[in-house]
Amino acid sequence: MIWGRSFWLLLAIACFVFAPVAIVYGLSWGLTAVIVCLLLMLCWHLLHLRQLVGWLEGPLNSPLPRGRGVWEIAFAVLHRRVRIRLSQQQLLSDTIERFVRAFHALPEGVIAFDRHQHIDWINELAEMHFALSEATDRGQALTNLIRHPDFVTYLDSGRYAEPMIFRGGRVDGLTLMLQIIPYGNDQSLLVSRDISQLERMEAMRRDFIANVSHELKTPLTVVAGFSEMLSDDYETYSLEEVKHYLTLICEQNGRMKRLIDDLLTLSALETGGSGSNHDPVAVEPMLHSILADAQALSAGQHEITLTIETPSVLAGYANELRSAFSNLAGNAVRYTSPGGRIDLIWRVHEGFGEFVVADTGIGIASQHLPRLTERFYRVDRSRSRETGGTGLGLAIVKHVLTRHHATLEIESEPGKGSRFTARFPESSLIN
Ligand code: ADP
Repeated sequence: MIWGRSFWLLLAIACFVFAPVAIVYGLSWGLTAVIVCLLLMLCWHLLHLRQLVGWLEGPLNSPLPRGRGVWEIAFAVLHRRVRIRLSQQQLLSDTIERFVRAFHALPEGVIAFDRHQHIDWINELAEMHFALSEATDRGQALTNLIRHPDFVTYLDSGRYAEPMIFRGGRVDGLTLMLQIIPYGNDQSLLVSRDISQLERMEAMRRDFIANVSHELKTPLTVVAGFSEMLSDDYETYSLEEVKHYLTLICEQNGRMKRLIDDLLTLSALETGGSGSNHDPVAVEPMLHSILADAQALSAGQHEITLTIETPSVLAGYANELRSAFSNLAGNAVRYTSPGGRIDLIWRVHEGFGEFVVADTGIGIASQHLPRLTERFYRVDRSRSRETGGTGLGLAIVKHVLTRHHATLEIESEPGKGSRFTARFPESSLIN
């Protein structure tokens, strides 16, 4: 089209400039007029060319100069191409941005690196896992930043079918599961998953199984020993001895039963307990029945009082609350020497509902206080066993209170006594 137009322009000059001038003034003036016209045309083209070069040197999205004649067509074609290129560029940058956002939102740490192990990308989780920063560490060699020999060996091995467990990175206490995934053209991804919590839970599970086995082993050994003894040589023992051994067997059976009951209670609490709806629980009758249980356990050896300062109704699970409160009252009896005093108090204090169990018992040294609600944690193992403890009572209390958005406060002084306070939020009080 441009060439067509140029051809017709030259033909027009020949016809309308050369021919009339040559006819009127002679051939040489005709040629001079043509040359002048061509020179003017050249200047005009040079002017447009300069505009075009000026535009090419500027940013791609700057407005195109306005042209005339053939330049108008050339600029229009150029303009169309620029628009297509700009929209392709926008599409590409949108896609990259979406990819980067997805990359950062991944639930695992990801570092992309090239065949020379130089880092291309680091997502936010990987920055946290390895204490790296994408801004400063991009382009660095991976092994300069993660120098642990175990990691370097894994990276160099080329065997990535199995993940590696990585401890001892720059972030203390973090255990990572790492896997390298090669992709594309000599590119690879280093994927990291934080398994510290999983590992802690696994350790807790192992400890728990070891503790339960240990707790069951002792009574089982006693029961098995005496049962075998009696069944082998029943006649050689006096009636008194047989009675004594059977009593011991019953005691150990009771201990195993209590342990299994507490384990079942804990497991029920962990798997959702008594359901999802709270019931109104009248505190007064519940505490009277707990007082009666505590008096039965004490068998008259302690002075036990119950004070209800503000009769209340709690929103909660009745059986769970009963179990938690009687654990606290039972502990006070078991860890207070005969002649001691135990006070059970219910009050509403500064808007909180509080159940307080205060005793004048053996007390607890301060270093034990933070761990008391752990399963099987005991200050004095033999005292706990002597008094029929399972080591799970306060763990149950803690679980129940947490399920009721309540807290447990423990104050104690060795030799003087302890004070356990279960504190319920205002929202738990119905009246
Ligand atoms: P246990 O069955 O051994 O009593 P708990 O979980 O109920 O287990 O209590 C954990 C430990 O806390 C007990 O072994 C005991 O050492 C200590 N403890 C609990 N209550 C009291 C208390 N009122 N006075 C002194 N020590 C207590």
